[in-house]
Amino acid sequence: MSTEAPLKKKNENFSEWFDDVLQRAELIDIRYNVKGFIVYRPNIMFIVKRVYEIIENLLIEKNHKPTLFPVVIPISSFKKESEHIKGFESEVFKINEAGGEELEEELILRPTSETAIYPMFALWIRSYKALPMKIFQSVSVYRHETKATRPLLRGREFLWIEAHCAFIDEESARNQVKEDLEITKKAFHEFGLPFLMVEREPYDRFYGAVDSYAFDTLLPDGRVLQVATTHYLGQNFSNANVFDIKFTDKDGIRKNVHQTCYGPGVSRIVAAIISVHGDEYGLVLPFDVAPFQIIVIPILKAGKEDVIMEKSKIITQNLSKAGFRTILDDSDERPGEKYYKWEMLGVPIRIEIGEEEVKKGFVTIFRRDLRSRKKVKDEDVIDNILNLKSLILKELEKRAWDTFNSSIISVNSKEELMKKRERAKIVRASFCGRKECADEIKAETEGLEVRGRRIDIKEIPSEKCFWCGKEASRVVYLAKAY
Ligand SMILES: [Zn+2]
Repeated sequence: MSTEAPLKKKNENFSEWFDDVLQRAELIDIRYNVKGFIVYRPNIMFIVKRVYEIIENLLIEKNHKPTLFPVVIPISSFKKESEHIKGFESEVFKINEAGGEELEEELILRPTSETAIYPMFALWIRSYKALPMKIFQSVSVYRHETKATRPLLRGREFLWIEAHCAFIDEESARNQVKEDLEITKKAFHEFGLPFLMVEREPYDRFYGAVDSYAFDTLLPDGRVLQVATTHYLGQNFSNANVFDIKFTDKDGIRKNVHQTCYGPGVSRIVAAIISVHGDEYGLVLPFDVAPFQIIVIPILKAGKEDVIMEKSKIITQNLSKAGFRTILDDSDERPGEKYYKWEMLGVPIRIEIGEEEVKKGFVTIFRRDLRSRKKVKDEDVIDNILNLKSLILKELEKRAWDTFNSSIISVNSKEELMKKRERAKIVRASFCGRKECADEIKAETEGLEVRGRRIDIKEIPSEKCFWCGKEASRVVYLAKAY
C-alpha cells in the first residue's frame, strides 16, 4: 500500500469507489479465476471475525449453541421439502464423482442448511425436555447466482451465520422470530447501520417458510441490500412427509415441532459497513467493529528518536492494558504514508506523538470519522478514548440514519412516483398486496421491488393502491435491490 490520491466520491460513482476501496485497502482479491468466488485477505478477515463475534455473542447470550454441519447434503435429504427444493434447485452445486468413481448418492453443496440439520433434529429430539433446541453455525454457503456477481454483495460463496431452532408450539417459535429481530437490531446498532425491518410479502417468502422477515439496508447507489432474514417455518419441515421431527409432550402425546431459521449475512454486513460509513479516504469503522481501534504513530525527529519512541511504547502499552486493541506503527515509512494506510483501513483513532508531545506531556488524537485532531493531556488519554468510543459510534450512526431517512419518499400515485423517481431511493406507498401489481411496478420502473411492510410500527394505508387504484391493504416500501 502506498500513498495515492484519495478515492472517488462514493455518492458519485459507488461501484467504482467500492471496487477501488476493496483493492486499495487490500481487502478482497478477485483474481481467483472462478466466477463469483473471491479471496478474503487478512485486512478484511479481521473485520469479518469481529462481525461474527458480535453476532455469535448475542446468540450465545440467548442460549443458542454452536454446531458445525457438513458442507455436503445428500440429494435425498435435499429433495424432501418440495417448495424448498423448487426454490434452490437451479442454484445448487452438485458433486457426483469422487476418487474417479461415481458416487452412490449425489451430493450438493449447502445453499442453506435446513435439509442438512433437520434430519439430525429428528434423531436428537425425543421429548419436550429437549426443547427448545437452539443451534447455529458460522459457515459459507454456495449458490450458483445467475445475476451479475459483485464482491461481498452477491457471490456464489458467501459467509453467514445460520441459526435453526425447534419449539413445542407456534407461540414459542414466533417469540424466537421476535428474539432474532432484537438480536439483529442490537448488532446493527453496534455496526452503526440503518435498516428497514419488514415482513416480506407472501409471494416473496423464503422457500418453505410460513412467514419471512428481513432487514434491508441502503447502499450509496440507492439500492437496498438484504442483510438478515428470519423465518417462521411452522411445521413445514417437521411434518411426517418431510423430516418427521416429533417429540413426546408432557401430556404423553407425540407432536411435531414448530421451527424457525435465522440468517444474518456476514459478507453483506461487512459490505454495508464498508459502503455506508466509508469515504474518499477509505474505510471508517465503528470502534467496536474495528479490528485495530487505536494506531500509535511516532513522528520522529533527529536527535529525539529515543524519547519519542519511548513515550509511544508506553502509551501503546497503557492503552492495550486498558483493553483497547492498540498497535504501534514503528515501521520506517514516513508519517504521511502511515496516515494514509491506517486511514484507508478505517482505524477509528490515531495517536500522534512527536517532539512537542513529549516535551509538553500531551498526545495528539485524530478521529477517523471526523478527520479532526485535538490535544489531550497524557493523564487524560484513557478517559478521553473511553468517551470517544461511544461518540464515534453515535456520529456514524446518526450520519447513516440521516442519509437513510432522507432517502425515503412517500407517494400516493403512479404519476407522483414517476415524477419523484430520481430522488426516491426508498418509496413508501399504500398498496393492494397483489403480486401482479408488484410485477408490473418492477417492469415499468426498471426494477423497483416491493420489499414489504414495516413490523416495528403499524402503518395504516390510505384507501387506494398507489399503482392500480384498487383497495389498499397495507403500506409497503419499494426499492431497487441487490
Ligand atoms: Zn395494486
